Amino acid sequence: GFRAVVVTKGETGTKAELTTFDEADLMDGDVTVRVSHSTLNYKDGLALTGKAPVVRRFPMIPGIDFAGIVETSAHPDFKPGDAVLLNGWGTGETHLGAYAEKSRVKGDWLVPLPKDLSAAEAMAIGTAGYTAMLCVMALERHGLTPDRGPVIVTGAAGGVGSVATALLAKLGFHVIASTGRPQEADYLKGLGAAEIIDRAELSSPGKPLAKERWAGGIDSVGSHTLANVLAMTRYGGAVAACGLAQGMDLPTSVAPFILRGVSLLGVDSVMAPKALRLEAWSRLARDLDRAKLAALTSTVPLEQVIEAGSSILDGRIRGRVVVTIA
Ligand code: NAP
Repeated sequence: GFRAVVVTKGETGTKAELTTFDEADLMDGDVTVRVSHSTLNYKDGLALTGKAPVVRRFPMIPGIDFAGIVETSAHPDFKPGDAVLLNGWGTGETHLGAYAEKSRVKGDWLVPLPKDLSAAEAMAIGTAGYTAMLCVMALERHGLTPDRGPVIVTGAAGGVGSVATALLAKLGFHVIASTGRPQEADYLKGLGAAEIIDRAELSSPGKPLAKERWAGGIDSVGSHTLANVLAMTRYGGAVAACGLAQGMDLPTSVAPFILRGVSLLGVDSVMAPKALRLEAWSRLARDLDRAKLAALTSTVPLEQVIEAGSSILDGRIRGRVVVTIA
């Protein structure tokens, strides 16, 4: 057996606990990985607390991201000793996930650990950071460049938001960081934000079109916030949407699309094809400043991840959290 956080379902709901898991109970897969590091995303908080039904199979080992070393492999691309990472594909939701000393998965889901990143750095990035990169790539495909004007990042002090802020600043954008935590202004400026705004400016119902304030943005919040971000986007601009921290609704109108030619770019990390993942990870290894990554990262041992899962849903986690397992 090995140490794992396991979520079980009882009559009163779900329960997460650190326990021992039998290797024979791992699910099918052609690669077994000795996990050294994982991380904590918003979705992991949902799985650990049961606040939303992201877990689709019980018992479940939550954790949607891991980095580790291949132990056994029947997949042609991987051999014992290879350093690998994984994001999404249903791990921690439908397939036994990352908060464990071992994981068995499909080799097709794995990405080789980029040479310039340690396992801990890859998990400091995690799904949140890799999603921030997918959002940056979507904006670039749209043709957004720093000379078009400022960009907004919502949920800026969170995981996606912190990495998005650091990436966009490094690429030369004037970043407007929207946060509900004014005490994190210095932190966000340290990541490269040029301006800080109070998220309350965006979180209530607004007009279908408002004064143009930015050329684009990355939104991890959804709901009225995304509606207002769209209403304030300049002619021809684009917003990449990846999250729902405020809500899953989008109370907007077609006005920004049909009167200003604004584009809404949807971003999914879970089922993103391998080629896009490889591109995102190689861009992260190149374009993410390591000192900024360190500044936005804190670390907890596996023993504390259940507690941290409640904190992230309460909006009390700053930046990214690495979970050490080995
Ligand atoms: P996180 O660290 O908790 O960040 C979310 C941030 O949103 C919070 O730190 C907070 O930022 C802000 N926020 C929270 N509640 C809010 C509210 N009621 N109204 C306005 N802002 C609020 O979570 P994360 O891991 O970065 O994930 C962010 C979102 O992206 C989640 O919804 C997650 O499910 C989603 N996501 C989606 C994908 C995908 O594949 N599409 C991948 C990764 C994440 P401030 O304190 O700065 O205001």
